Amino acid sequence: MALVTISGYPSAGKSTRVAQIQAYLQQRLAADDYAGPKLSVEVLSDDVLNLERSVYNDSRSEKPARGALFTAMQRQMSTDKILIVDSLNYIKGFRYQMYCAAREMKLRVCTVHVVAAPDVCREWNANRKDGRTYSTETFENLIMRYEEPSSMVRWDSPLFSILWLDTEIPGEQIWDALTKGVVKPPNGAS
Ligand code: ADP
Repeated sequence: MALVTISGYPSAGKSTRVAQIQAYLQQRLAADDYAGPKLSVEVLSDDVLNLERSVYNDSRSEKPARGALFTAMQRQMSTDKILIVDSLNYIKGFRYQMYCAAREMKLRVCTVHVVAAPDVCREWNANRKDGRTYSTETFENLIMRYEEPSSMVRWDSPLFSILWLDTEIPGEQIWDALTKGVVKPPNGAS
């Protein structure tokens, strides 16, 4: 039914935000005032596919990993599901490919940019205790190569940004974009 593409620097807090977004969407789907079709909210990630962070160490291992993510995404996208793709998704062309695949299936789409300053990510990456630390070289490389999403291009749009200091996620805006195709301007601006 919909595809949510996550994008952000390594260790920017993407999976943490994904858990919040998933919980929010599940809660809305279970609420009494929801009268739409029955939908599940599923997450596809490097971890689900057992892809180690070290696949990003060089392009020879990164390319097939990206291919595996894309194939799994194509297989899992469906009309009865909101699929959240939690990965770096840092290449513009790759996000474009994901968008085209989703639109081909007539799914609604949105992109969530999980934003944290490089220094914050560096610190969070160094302090990870889940065995998912990116090596220093890979981390710096990914930051350098990162292609920021833009609301000006249709494949990244609608685009929601969540900053590292944000206590709230734009849950309602994401919900409206996915279920109604409506994008409200932030803060009531018109
Ligand atoms: P990513 O999915 O981008 O790699 P994670 O969500 O897995 O990032 O978070 C990376 C590390 O940063 C984890 O150790 C996590 O506990 C920590 N982290 C994430 N968000 C925050 C936050 N808002 N404040 C402090 N630490 C955080």
